[in-house]
Amino acid sequence: MSDKPTAPLARPTRATTPDLQYVAPGVWGLRNVFVNLYFVRQQPSSGPWVLVDAGLPGSAAKIRHTAETLFGAHLPPAAIILTHGHFDHAGALETLASAWDVPVYAHPLELPYLTGRSAYPPPDPTVGGGAMAALSFAYPKHPYNVGSRAHALPADGSVPELPGWRWLPTPGHTPGHVSFFRDEDRVLLAGDAFCTVQQESALAVWAQEQEVHGPPRYFTCDWQQARRSVALLADLKPAVAATGHGIPMRGGTLQRELQDLALHFDELAVPAHGRYVPQPAVADETGVVSVPPAVFDPTNPWLLGAAAAALGLAAAVILTQRRSRKSGKARRRLQRNQRMEESAFPPHADSIDPFEPDTRYDHNSVPL
Ligand SMILES: [Zn+2]
Ligand SMILES: [Zn+2]
Repeated sequence: MSDKPTAPLARPTRATTPDLQYVAPGVWGLRNVFVNLYFVRQQPSSGPWVLVDAGLPGSAAKIRHTAETLFGAHLPPAAIILTHGHFDHAGALETLASAWDVPVYAHPLELPYLTGRSAYPPPDPTVGGGAMAALSFAYPKHPYNVGSRAHALPADGSVPELPGWRWLPTPGHTPGHVSFFRDEDRVLLAGDAFCTVQQESALAVWAQEQEVHGPPRYFTCDWQQARRSVALLADLKPAVAATGHGIPMRGGTLQRELQDLALHFDELAVPAHGRYVPQPAVADETGVVSVPPAVFDPTNPWLLGAAAAALGLAAAVILTQRRSRKSGKARRRLQRNQRMEESAFPPHADSIDPFEPDTRYDHNSVPL
């Protein structure tokens, strides 16, 4: 026998894993561009099923098609259950809930963001880690509204339609974030309480490099809570963890890396600086109550690039307008272009104030 150490097995990547993956008995994961959602069926496998999270905006058709492939065209889910309501986990929620005519369950502290009452605390693009973080200022922030379909998860910790599962409060990434755990085979659906990819990096996300990481930094609004939530999940010693971002992980590798994350959370997960690092956003059952002031990171090349691009665009517009004053023909062309762009991108769509539903918000003190 050779004494040579054996090379570690290559970790799964996007190239080696299909979009639809078997996770555990009765659990399948669907990768939707850069986020995952899960189809979970009551065991034994003849029972009803539920959808855990609802993907990106525009993904309803893909989710319905996958559900029909798994369960047949005539078996809609008994419910949609959310880990939390960020745009990449609830993007298709309104369409799916109404098409299937099903209830939506989430933690009571998450309901304001699902009933049109409050926007989430704004993302923090200064946390570093890559393009996914730097560009987070552009992510949709408005609340979804499923009206009377929205219900609080049962207070006893049970999960509707899924006996054998329990939900655990894992706040920090959002105020009412929850995870789901099946004790019998220690299967964990962790949402964004932690990830199995470095979600801040577009390159890591593109390749789906598998590795335990903290919650996506740009959206995490309470780091103390996030630390406690990771410790709680690490103590469960899950056999499988299927998270909101990344390829599911299993066994000793998962437990080691999750334990390491819990033990060294400040170094591994918490950004060196950022809007929510010194103090958290405050929220209650009615939505966001207050957020710390925005911070500007002058070293962030993405922000500098965006600022330079905006300045360049402004200069180009001014020059164009000056030139067009000299020429009626050019002015008419400018007006025609403006009309065409406004019909494609109505100006009011960009001017919606994401915080409007929460009347207690002091908008002036919360620069985005
Ligand atoms: Zn999230
Ligand atoms: Zn997410």
